Amino acid sequence: MESYQVILRGGTPLGMAAGTDIAVSGGKIAAVGPSLPGRAELEIDAAGTLISPSFVDSHMHLDKVLTGLEEDATDTWAAVQIMLRHAKSLPRDQVREDVKRRARQVIDWEIAHGSSTLKSHVYCNGIWGLESVYAHRELKEEYAGRADILNIVPWPDDGDSALIDQLDQLARQGCVDFIGGFPYGMPDYRARIDAIFRKAEQFSLPIDLHVDEKDIPDANAFAYICQKTIDTRMEGRVTCGHLTTLSALPDEEAKPLIELAAQAKINVITLPSCNMYLRGREDAQPIRRGVTRIHDFLQAGVNIAYASDNIRDPFRPFGNGDMLEEGLFTAQVMQYGTRDALDKVFHMGTYAAAQNCLLTGYGLDTGCRADLTVIDAPTPSDALKSLSRRLWVLKDGRVVARDGVLV
Ligand SMILES: [Zn+2]
Repeated sequence: MESYQVILRGGTPLGMAAGTDIAVSGGKIAAVGPSLPGRAELEIDAAGTLISPSFVDSHMHLDKVLTGLEEDATDTWAAVQIMLRHAKSLPRDQVREDVKRRARQVIDWEIAHGSSTLKSHVYCNGIWGLESVYAHRELKEEYAGRADILNIVPWPDDGDSALIDQLDQLARQGCVDFIGGFPYGMPDYRARIDAIFRKAEQFSLPIDLHVDEKDIPDANAFAYICQKTIDTRMEGRVTCGHLTTLSALPDEEAKPLIELAAQAKINVITLPSCNMYLRGREDAQPIRRGVTRIHDFLQAGVNIAYASDNIRDPFRPFGNGDMLEEGLFTAQVMQYGTRDALDKVFHMGTYAAAQNCLLTGYGLDTGCRADLTVIDAPTPSDALKSLSRRLWVLKDGRVVARDGVLV
């Protein structure tokens, strides 16, 4: 008789029939099918539940979360100033502990809500130096076996050569997962993008950028990045977050760009909860919505994920580290209410996000990592509408949370 680590009995694995078992061995999915023979150290009655590969929050700022809670930011500029004041108020030798203390709270929320992988943009500049890079590295070790934490590190373009040398060293040591940056809105954006692609080539790293997060109808940086991706054969390894300017462009200008993005296999991340909070504030009616063209990207076959972005910091005072909640918000913004459309939204928080993180072994097939979330709902649309309980969260086959509480 086969002996397993865990068997989930009779649930509905995402995209499969109700009444399917999943058996886990050595942290991986060992068998999938109805009424699997064998026993396990832990047998979970999953009847009536949805079993999903765990969520992937692929655009976060773990070093900004829970900052400036004592101040009220009235707009983006005020938020930037509050964040700057917080950053400057900390002596450098206290930054790492401050980042880790705040980030742990949100990582714990994410795990309890069924996320297995978090991809975080790192605050790296002349103020904090590399302290947040080190904090992310220490969090990655601390959370090994509970959540995978990937970092996105920008190479500062302020000419601090000592800092850049140190970053190069960290990249050589394999301590950087993605190269980041905010290369838009400046006259020299092309030179900045060129520099980012040169670093990516130098260290064979993928790229994940903030791009065109504005209200004005100017997507020139996005167009340049798409073409650069094709020219440098980086297809599939470049991710662009936000792209809110696309919502301000007329169709005849936006559609060719979206086709170019499809050709370049750009991964897109939309951050509706943060963008709808921050964008369009200067507009008289009609107010621009500040969310990228999600539907058009989906129609064009572009891989598009949603993510949470800022969580309870000066940029957005909301967020619970809950990808289902972010998904429901995304669905409402997209005016996606049918079961079919809600399936697409669920896909954006799972498989699509896993793809922009370049994860391997993600999913529900035999041999995939057993990063699983058992949701108290029969279907993805029910799960989104009800923000259903996450009954069990497994990371590499080990239970890490149960009914919203960390184990
Ligand atoms: Zn962001």
